[in-house]
Amino acid sequence: MRDIVKILGVPFNRITTDGTVDIIENQINSDRKKPYHIITGNPEIVVSYKKEKVLQDIIDDTDLITPDGVGIILASKWKKDLLPERVTGVDLLARVLDRGNERGWSFYFLGADEETNKKAVEIIKEKNSNIVVTGRHNGFFNKEEEEKIIEEISNLKPDILIVALGAPRAEKWIYNNKLRLNAKVTFGVGGSLDVIAGKVKRAPLIWQKLNIEWLHRLLSQPSRWRRQLVLPVFAWKAFGEAVKENVFHKKED
Ligand code: UDP
Repeated sequence: MRDIVKILGVPFNRITTDGTVDIIENQINSDRKKPYHIITGNPEIVVSYKKEKVLQDIIDDTDLITPDGVGIILASKWKKDLLPERVTGVDLLARVLDRGNERGWSFYFLGADEETNKKAVEIIKEKNSNIVVTGRHNGFFNKEEEEKIIEEISNLKPDILIVALGAPRAEKWIYNNKLRLNAKVTFGVGGSLDVIAGKVKRAPLIWQKLNIEWLHRLLSQPSRWRRQLVLPVFAWKAFGEAVKENVFHKKED
């Protein structure tokens, strides 16, 4: 049974990063045909959820949704139903590579520009000599190339397909092609390959610990300000939902 906390309709799983890696291991060891799809859900996805039918279909068809971002954790706190920790794409990828290196899992890396994808995969292989990289492709392709990529992934049957196309592009791409992707597990990792390749710097640990990684992103990539406008909208709506629920629960008590 899924132990979930619903935030503005999106069902988040009560799970840690290590717990997610354990689930991934179970799925890899299973004989499943359809990929196990994990979404690391951020406030942007939550705000779009009610407005975009396709996102509702995607979320309904997703196997696990983790809280990606301090906003989601805060919203669960307001609801007095605390989610244990942030499970971000970049952290999940790092832990999955660690476990994959211990177990000899196979991977396919899709996304980012060609130079970044190539460099990131080289760095990953160097650090994790025991994983198998079945293939890789950059994230800029036309319809014809896309068909070839899907066919290639399907033939290579990787344990894990990493999709670094940005959110929610990756989630939409996975959903649309799920039945043709012969991978056991798949998830989007946003701009993680850019971070691994050194093209984008992640916030220093202290910023992450202080829960202001979003501020670091805004300062280092100011062009993202438009996307971050969604954060106050999310906070307002999630707070409103929590207040309503708390009042309602109090009345019931
Ligand atoms: N990207 C891609 N194909 C596209 C558009 C974007 O592969 O058509 C890649 C882009 O190069 C970057 C990642 O997707 O590596 C997006 O990173 P971003 O930080 O915007 O994603 P987020 O973490 O916000 O989901």
